Amino acid sequence: MSTQQIPVAKPVLDELEVEAARRVILSGWVTQGPEVARFEQEFAAYVGAPHACAVSNCTTALHLALMAVGVGEGDEVITVSHSFIATANAIRHCGATPVFIDIEQDGFNIDPDRIASAITRRTKAILCVHQLGMPCNLMAIMAIARRYGIKVIEDAACAIGSEIHWDGEWQRIGRPHADIACFSFHPRKVITTGDGGMLTTANPEYDRVFRSLRQHAMTVPDTVRHGSRQVIFESYAEVGYNYRMTDLQAAIGRVQLTRLPEIITKRRELAALYTSLLSSIDGLTAPIEPHWARSNWQSYCVTLPSGVSQAGVMQVLLDRGISTRRGVMNAHVEPAYDGRGNYSAIDTLSRSIAAQESAIMLPLYVQMSEADVAMVVSELKNALTPAVAAA
Ligand SMILES: *Cc1c(COP(=O)(O)O)cnc(C)c1O
Repeated sequence: MSTQQIPVAKPVLDELEVEAARRVILSGWVTQGPEVARFEQEFAAYVGAPHACAVSNCTTALHLALMAVGVGEGDEVITVSHSFIATANAIRHCGATPVFIDIEQDGFNIDPDRIASAITRRTKAILCVHQLGMPCNLMAIMAIARRYGIKVIEDAACAIGSEIHWDGEWQRIGRPHADIACFSFHPRKVITTGDGGMLTTANPEYDRVFRSLRQHAMTVPDTVRHGSRQVIFESYAEVGYNYRMTDLQAAIGRVQLTRLPEIITKRRELAALYTSLLSSIDGLTAPIEPHWARSNWQSYCVTLPSGVSQAGVMQVLLDRGISTRRGVMNAHVEPAYDGRGNYSAIDTLSRSIAAQESAIMLPLYVQMSEADVAMVVSELKNALTPAVAAA
């Protein structure tokens, strides 16, 4: 057994983030204040969005986005089962029903061809996911949604810095191209604030709703009361939430944002190296980037040759000091959904199920060397040799 340890992911954090957190702590204002406001401005500028609103994580961002477009009790939202369970849960949090459709043939994203047949009188929104950082086919999705007058929310949890070819140029995910986009800063994503989330939109009314609901629908934010020379009393217009981001998180996020261009360049280089080296493994399918998409490669997920044991390959790699993860999971087979009648699906979701059983995520992080990538590929090749795979 090797002593080498290659994790599946690793955040980029150093003294710059420590210094940012220190500055906030010594300032005396530690939650949703000046750092959050600046992080929002800088994030909006980075993705090219008119409005950005910071929240506690991407699950709460998705909840607010669905509420803002009017999703509530008895409504249906078309989405994929094949995603982190937060995508479907956010729909349930609104009292609405997720309507699951399958993924496309050549990737892990929603199949736009299946959307129209899932639309009913109760369909309120489409929640599409840029899975693993790979932009989904928004052009096709928006064409259908506009035809039926349905709102579209982008689950861009993994897609900060990913790009889509739109209006004849490369644009970053989050302008947004649909009605609202939601991002995550969990450590497993490309940049992190510990936990954290962001909503972007071009609609000022949606932005107002996010800002209100993230802070209990308080009529006067505490930043305004703090700065006022007159006594002001706030009131609470409706039942809202505490979905605030702290200033500690935001200060760290601002540093992370400055690292992002370099992080993405490096991730793309490593992904390209994987793709080229993996072409020597028979039967293995590397991820495909459509010609109109540029991924940030939040995860690099391969499909194993048919008949190979996913757990077996992962164990052989782990024994050699290489961590992997199985592919994206399916919400509808989890106990929280299965058999409870709290979702519907238009077919058997066979591609989603096949993907969960045959895909694995390979290590990919900025501190990885080219030699590390080569070693992962050579160990994977070894794990796939019939003798080893059968053992
Ligand atoms: C990580 C993730 C989320 C949830 O993000 P949090 O910030 O952890 O709440 C939602 N959707 C997808 C596709 C994700 O990968």
